[in-house]
Amino acid sequence: MADKRDYYEVLGVSKGAGEEDIKKAYRKLARQYHPDVNKAADAEDKFKEVKEAYDVLGDGQKRAMYDQYGHVDPNQGGGGFSGDFGGFGDIFDMFFGGGGGNRRDPNAPQRGSDLQYTMTIEFKEAAFGKETDITIPRTEQCDTCFGTGAKPGTKPDACSKCHGSGQEEVVQNTPFGRMVNRRACSSCQGRGKIIREKCGTCHGAGSMKKQRKIHVRIPAGAFDGAQLRMSGEGESGQRGGPGGDLYIIIRVKQHEFFQREEDDIYCEVPLTFAQAALGDEIEIPTLHDKVKLKIPAGTQTGTQFRLRGKGVPHLRGNGNGDQHVKVVIVTPTKLNDEQKEALREFANVSGEAPSGTHEGTFFDRMKRAFRGD
Ligand SMILES: [Zn+2]
Ligand SMILES: [Zn+2]
Repeated sequence: MADKRDYYEVLGVSKGAGEEDIKKAYRKLARQYHPDVNKAADAEDKFKEVKEAYDVLGDGQKRAMYDQYGHVDPNQGGGGFSGDFGGFGDIFDMFFGGGGGNRRDPNAPQRGSDLQYTMTIEFKEAAFGKETDITIPRTEQCDTCFGTGAKPGTKPDACSKCHGSGQEEVVQNTPFGRMVNRRACSSCQGRGKIIREKCGTCHGAGSMKKQRKIHVRIPAGAFDGAQLRMSGEGESGQRGGPGGDLYIIIRVKQHEFFQREEDDIYCEVPLTFAQAALGDEIEIPTLHDKVKLKIPAGTQTGTQFRLRGKGVPHLRGNGNGDQHVKVVIVTPTKLNDEQKEALREFANVSGEAPSGTHEGTFFDRMKRAFRGD
């Protein structure tokens, strides 16, 4: 039995054909092959093929899936994804599941399922990238029998019932004519082969679960929720089919000092009142190194300073984000007598209201509010 034909080919339309053209092509072919009209031996099969192609191409959503994934093995639906990979498997189940009327060659190559792995990394690892090995369990071809399922030195026999096609035909005579139903061969369960002597390693399955070590490179600038696709590193394909993909979901741990917004870093640095009033030079930790920051005299609490290029490396392209440093003036809670005395003295020489740049604005406004202006 040959591979399933391309649906566009079946309907004789181009890949870019519009809805109307597809409908027209289907109607024409359906009339041509309808078993009531066409008495040729293969008319029924042709009719079913046309109907199946139209069921998919005539439905926008199914057509989009088909364009992206082609014919999908009904046996592959669901199951492949682990964890919270929302609903993807379900769509396959809905669309391709059940396998009703879905003919395919049991010996055709089959793509492996996709796998998902969630990896939690440190804040700095996300910024600068990380290379690591992970171990994932995945289904791989059995090394002993190279996927045949047969004991080494023996070969599976073609199923004598279906002659290797994996399918059997059930013929019924109905008032409308001869109906041919195809279903998986009951003798070989659709495999087309009978294994007389099973491989001792995989017990005839041809594949087995293995712990597989995979080298992962997380690029600098990775972010929480990022997804890496490792092509072909999912479950092995069957009968020479390509492997599925491995999706690595990145989770980034929080940092106790830095906060990240895209590629910019935010942090808060405490200042004493004296530092803020008199000015100072302080050391600031960054992801890269320590940086000296000049605090000008008379700095107000909440002032933000920008350290250019001290943020997270951009994932694509050169350069880094910036680091934003917000200074917070901390009021002392425990003072010794000497400190209290000094502050009282300071208050005496300063007068009643706080002195500084805000005098004419904030405190004036407050005073006016007290007076009821
Ligand atoms: Zn069979
Ligand atoms: Zn084996």
